[in-house]
Amino acid sequence: MAHLIQIAPPTPLTRQTAGSSEASPVPSSGGLIDTHGRTHTDFRISVTDRCNIRCFYCMPEEGGDYGPVSGMLSFSDIRRVAEAGVRLGIRKIRLTGGEPLLRLRVADLVESLAELPLTDLALTTNAVLLAERARDLRKAGLGRLNVHLDTLNPARFFQITRRNELARVLAGIDLALSLGFEIKLNAVAIRNLTEPDVIPITRFARQRGMEIRFIEFMPLDAQGLWDASQVLTAAEMRRQLEAEFGPLEPIADSDPRAPAVEYRFADGSKVGFIASVSRPFCQNCNRLRLTADGKLRYCLFAREETDIRAALREDSDQELERLFRKTVWEKWPGHSIGAPTFEAPQRPMYSIGG
Ligand code: SAM
Ligand code: SF4
Repeated sequence: MAHLIQIAPPTPLTRQTAGSSEASPVPSSGGLIDTHGRTHTDFRISVTDRCNIRCFYCMPEEGGDYGPVSGMLSFSDIRRVAEAGVRLGIRKIRLTGGEPLLRLRVADLVESLAELPLTDLALTTNAVLLAERARDLRKAGLGRLNVHLDTLNPARFFQITRRNELARVLAGIDLALSLGFEIKLNAVAIRNLTEPDVIPITRFARQRGMEIRFIEFMPLDAQGLWDASQVLTAAEMRRQLEAEFGPLEPIADSDPRAPAVEYRFADGSKVGFIASVSRPFCQNCNRLRLTADGKLRYCLFAREETDIRAALREDSDQELERLFRKTVWEKWPGHSIGAPTFEAPQRPMYSIGG
């Protein structure tokens, strides 16, 4: 029997300017403020759409709709876009993909971005190549990693990722911790699949001083497999965790614009939930994205994007800044997962950058 969950509709936002974004001109100065009053300081940069494993909720089992390698932005182009973003108020950058560690010299990019006046520079990885790259990344100035791991069970790891790479992932985590990286573990939560993993993976994270964050399954898979009944909700996982580990206290001072709602166990260790489906956080969104092929996006679920490659070819910082502002100005109030009007984005997660 299908399990029903309640999906909250996105909170309606009031535009702060009269009329629609079409009617009000894109500002030509100031920070990255949209027509709903949200200021954008957080930039997710995808460095590749390729991956070395094939999580079923992200990639097809075989093949993939990849862009040509020649179409990927160079590291100097990425640096240039990041600098333009920083001039406009970007303060946090997270590198992602696809699998970012597949870009051989990604540590060079980290080193270059670490020179910018950021409050946070992080990288999201499936950790398959982490043991090989962790030392270079640390030397390059990276301090924070988000490591994606859904299960410690080898059979389920294979079922989810269609690859036998769990041992390499665990070795990568161990090495990165020994090098002093701060790590958040990201686990996608899927009904009738990962319920048995919630307790063991939380224990694993707490024992190693890592925060664990559970991400609700979102309609971003390459094959359109998603349906709402597969979403294991944050509320359900919280109940499961409290039954095992005792009460969870909401963390009052956590950043209200961060996607994860965080809680603390009695011993101080943390757990977060990214409840994009059951509790969308669009009204606080401060994020912008850059795809590996040079498109700015204001939302994971956006149905439009801004091509910045011409501005890069023309070497025009002014045009780059205009395109940043334009993209933010066109930002919608939020996605509508669960509503009859919802349409999945034209690109799957690996091609947008998670
Ligand atoms: N390959 C890296 C990784 O897996 O961390 C970076 C890219 S991946 C697209 C970024 C994040 O997206 C991962 O934490 C993954 O768990 C999450 N993700 C991918 N598909 C998802 C989906 N359909 N629903 C929820 N999260 C998803
Ligand atoms: Fe690869 Fe990350 Fe997508 Fe999994 S979620 S297939 S690791 S890009």
